Amino acid sequence: MNFSNKLIGWYQDNKRDLPWRNTVNPYHIWLSEIILQQTRVLQGTPCYLAFLKAFPTIEDLANAPEFKVLKMWQGLGYYSRARNLHFTAKDIVNNFGGEFPKDYRKMLQFKGIGVYTAAAITSFAFDMPYAVVDGNVIRVLSRVFGVSIPSDTSVGKKQFQQLAQELLIEKESAIYNQAIMEFGAMKCKPKSPDCSNCPMQDFCVAYATNSVAELPVKSMKIKVKDRFLHYFLIEQEDNVFLGKRKSGIWIGLYEFPFLEFPIKMNQKQVMQSDEWSQRFLNSTCDVKSVSSEFIHILSHQKIYAQFWQINATGVKLEEYELIPRNSLLEFPVSRLTEKYFETIELG
Ligand code: SF4
Repeated sequence: MNFSNKLIGWYQDNKRDLPWRNTVNPYHIWLSEIILQQTRVLQGTPCYLAFLKAFPTIEDLANAPEFKVLKMWQGLGYYSRARNLHFTAKDIVNNFGGEFPKDYRKMLQFKGIGVYTAAAITSFAFDMPYAVVDGNVIRVLSRVFGVSIPSDTSVGKKQFQQLAQELLIEKESAIYNQAIMEFGAMKCKPKSPDCSNCPMQDFCVAYATNSVAELPVKSMKIKVKDRFLHYFLIEQEDNVFLGKRKSGIWIGLYEFPFLEFPIKMNQKQVMQSDEWSQRFLNSTCDVKSVSSEFIHILSHQKIYAQFWQINATGVKLEEYELIPRNSLLEFPVSRLTEKYFETIELG
């Protein structure tokens, strides 16, 4: 039996029962794929179900205010994915009568749908012969076939895509694609793959050559930038200042006024800085508390943040509005701010 047939056989005996596997509705499949690009199955399942409950159809998503979509997405990170989801839902409703086109190339023209998602939707929903290639697939293929070309180079990407397409059983593309991703997630895992009980053992090149831990190969190391942020929860009676972010990865989310410094600064240094003097010009500040440091890791940034609770009078912050402190939880915020909220009383 060859690799592809063995894979399908393994999948039929071992697959997990996941809600998006029992549907061919392209909207449901699209949602699940975008959510699973953000998080693992365990955390992704309740998010998927909650999202579908809030927006049962693509029309519901298209007609929802961005505010609500971002709030539902809160905690998943990479908010551009939620914004693209919203944008594309509107595009499909307004320009395609609410129906996903059964066309791989057209699918690629939608915002936020790349080759992986287009292949997933067309194969799972319409059984069209497009092979999915994600991190799980690359790991399985690189190990079983001993492919050592770096998977994050354009040549590497092309080679993995080609190999995946050659292995695809065209008449069973949906099940084959599910099978290889499930195999990567459950059996041929990044760390401690289950080689001793693996049906591919007999012909797995990495197993035979003792190179499981070395595959797949990546060439580029992402440069991570350190950022030092101080957020100010400035209270005026029962209200606090909050603003809507206009740029960057957290565009559309709400945040407290903040200062950013190129290096780590303690409370005294922050309060003696020019930035502090400018921000709190002509105002009286009473610092009630400064949180311990929160470290938040994004793909290209490592954020070190502290949240200050301040009682102030005379503060003027034009780009922020005063909102009741007890309504803070209604606003979509970054996961970083959400983590801080989990540590304080907001009532
Ligand atoms: Fe993956 Fe190990 Fe199976 Fe090879 S033998 S496919 S490395 S789990």
